[in-house]
Amino acid sequence: MTTDTGRKHRIVVIGSGFGGLFGTQALKRRGDVEITLVARTAQHLFQPLLYQVATGILSEGEVAPSTREVLARQKNARVILGDVTRIDLDRRTVTSEVLGTETVTPYDTLLVAAGAGQSYFGNDEFAEYAPGMKSIDDALELRGRIFGAFELAELATTEEDARRALTFVVVGAGPTGVEMAGQIAELARRTLKHDFRRIDPTQAHVILVDAADTVLPTFGERLGGAARRRLTEMGVDVRTGTMVTGVDGSGIEVKDRNGGTTRIEALTKVWAAGVQASPLGRQLADQSDAELDRAGRVKVNPDLTLPGRPEVFVVGDMIALDDLPGVAQVAIQGARFAAKEVTNRLDGKPSQGPFEYFDKGSMATVSRFSAVASIGRLRFHGFIAWVLWLAVHLVYIIGFKSRVTTLLHWVVSFLGRGRAERVATEQQVFARRALRQVGDEVRPGGRDAS
Ligand SMILES: Cc1cc2nc3c(=O)[nH]c(=O)nc-3n(C[C@H](O)[C@H](O)[C@H](O)COP(=O)(O)OP(=O)(O)OC[C@H]3O[C@@H](n4cnc5c(N)ncnc54)[C@H](O)[C@@H]3O)c2cc1C
Repeated sequence: MTTDTGRKHRIVVIGSGFGGLFGTQALKRRGDVEITLVARTAQHLFQPLLYQVATGILSEGEVAPSTREVLARQKNARVILGDVTRIDLDRRTVTSEVLGTETVTPYDTLLVAAGAGQSYFGNDEFAEYAPGMKSIDDALELRGRIFGAFELAELATTEEDARRALTFVVVGAGPTGVEMAGQIAELARRTLKHDFRRIDPTQAHVILVDAADTVLPTFGERLGGAARRRLTEMGVDVRTGTMVTGVDGSGIEVKDRNGGTTRIEALTKVWAAGVQASPLGRQLADQSDAELDRAGRVKVNPDLTLPGRPEVFVVGDMIALDDLPGVAQVAIQGARFAAKEVTNRLDGKPSQGPFEYFDKGSMATVSRFSAVASIGRLRFHGFIAWVLWLAVHLVYIIGFKSRVTTLLHWVVSFLGRGRAERVATEQQVFARRALRQVGDEVRPGGRDAS
């Protein structure tokens, strides 16, 4: 693994999420490596709190610190912005692109942590009407749509239009869906209660839909049941065993377990169901002995390397190994394991053997003061679980500044009823679609540049 030319060992890290950032930081003491972290956004995104950006509790800056700033003191790491378009495993290069500028970065070791995107289970056309929750763009667009729906309801001239604007459908009863449904309900019943004159926001109808029979299935029956009861107490209409068959601008079509189809008139739809691993996984599989699973995740070796390519590690949401879940700790621990493996090789030490995941537990909030938590054999729900959730999230938010302002915003929202971040510009709601329509014309090298 060491280079015979005496130059530093070049490590390229793809992604600035949990895997990419923690993997880079784990190598900070190595003066003999040169790390290039390439990611398509300039931030490290703390996805678990995205729903709070979407519902006006936190600002985008609090959940997404600048990667460059986080790594400013780590002299062996360089950050470059770029969408990785090609990985060449034979030449050992990564090609990335920003606005028509292409950069080719060579590596000796590659750490791929490009995560996963939303899956619409083959119905990608749903995305336009039911944004997912994977990026800051998604969260801000949803913030605009959710707060905007109350504005449209206030302006509605018919009862039917007002009802449609005040109906919110969240698809997927996993942690993100439960958190979103709970927060929209709290927003309507607490935060916005006194803000309108013609409509009564507390009459908003929040519906949580899932094809499975349970809420929070990965938390088990007891905690899933507790979450469901709490949501119902808050007025959320939980419809399990219900599959989405169609989505359009003004509503959603669902099929129940008896095959009956119903249309729900609803302006705001949120998609929190299904993930698909980064398409970079396909590139890795095509050039190695690796296979992909149905969600496009790479079947890695037990030491997280790519079959047939020991110099390539894949971590986090992109991997399929021992049924590991797509959670932050799998990415963090995997990336730290890969970093240690690299340093062992550089030091001529033996391999650590297979990667072993230590499950620290999982938690999800349902409302203020109420959460569910599963830690080892212990199961908590209600206030205790919520305090645990609060503490764990504060610990993992990157940077002292963000911790302080996040805590302040939580006091405002959870003890008071306010939400400090209700701004959503028209551009945030519509820019993505507009840009897509303009397409190449806005890019340097595109039609305008000729
Ligand atoms: C809304 C939401 C809530 C969640 N809640 C929780 C929770 O409460 N607890 C928990 O443990 N987990 C939670 N998760 C899951 C957790 O966030 C992921 O498991 C974790 O982020 C995976 O880390 P990763 O490094 O594999 O990918 P990510 O963190 O997704 O990072 C991927 C990185 O790769 C970059 N990238 C992708 N493609 C390219 C490309 N082609 N070129 C360049 N860069 C690229 C991205 O910009 C990003 O920087 C949640 C996820 C979501 C979406």
